[in-house]
Parts: sequence; C-alpha cells; structure tokens
Amino acid sequence: MNEKDQRLDWALNRCRALQLRLTRSRRVVLECLAASHLPATLDMILQAQQPEDVSDPATVYRTLMLLKEAEVVRSVGTVNKAAYYLLNAPGQHVHFLICRRCGDIKALPCCGQLDALHNTISSSEGYSRLYHDLTFYGICPKCQGQEDEAFPSKLPVRC
Ligand SMILES: [Zn+2]
Repeated sequence: MNEKDQRLDWALNRCRALQLRLTRSRRVVLECLAASHLPATLDMILQAQQPEDVSDPATVYRTLMLLKEAEVVRSVGTVNKAAYYLLNAPGQHVHFLICRRCGDIKALPCCGQLDALHNTISSSEGYSRLYHDLTFYGICPKCQGQEDEAFPSKLPVRC
C-alpha cells in the first residue's frame, strides 16, 4: 500500500470509528488531502475535484469543519484569510514554508533536532498522539519586488 493509500485508509477508518457517514463530499475531501503531503486550501480542494464530484464551496467548507472537529483533519496555517488543511494521520508532523503573498507552500526537509525534541516531549510528558506543526512565513522569490506596491490583502490570491 503506498503512502497516499495508507493516509486515506487511516482517515476512512477514523471516520468509521466515529460513525461519520462517508458522504461523497467527505470522501472527495479526504482523497484530495491524502494525495499530498502538502496542506491544501479550500480553493485548492475545489480545483482538485473531478467534474463528476464537484461540490459547492459551502459544502466543502462544512465538510472540512466537521472533519476538523473530528480530528481527522487539522489546519496548519493561514495566508490571505485562507487556511491550509492537512490530514491528521499519525506521523504527519511536517515543516512548511509559505509565501505570505501568493500562498505558495512547500515542505521543508525533516529536522532531526525537532524530531528528537518531539520524541523527548512525548516520553517525558507522557503524551500520546502528539503532533507538531512548524510553519515559516515569508515572501517567495517570485513575489519579491512586488511587496511594496499594494496593500497585502489587495494582492491577488493564488488559487
Ligand atoms: Zn509568492
């Protein structure tokens, strides 16, 4: 089973355990988030939908909020009022770099020191199901030079 299928399997099992009915919209959102290590915004999820699966933005948003409440999904950062969502699957503590202008997001290489700290906290504090998120925000090379020209929120949001 590849990583995408493992993540999807985890999410579907968690929904079943919580007796969450697997509606088409919920399955489409979970499949989209399972497909990538990178978190996705509502717009990205909408764009990734196949034509036959298309749900309206309000339905996808409600689905995300429900899945977040169920701890199947978590949000990891916000740029231009758009939150990024990630599957809450075990081991999904990833470090991200997000452009505050265009919203471009990339995963940073794992850091051994942080992972060691993670394991230390887990054992010394006795916490289970521990996760951590670390997000760096900056201006990507493509957006540099444009940053003084407009009020940040008036800049176009990348979809
Ligand atoms: Zn940018």
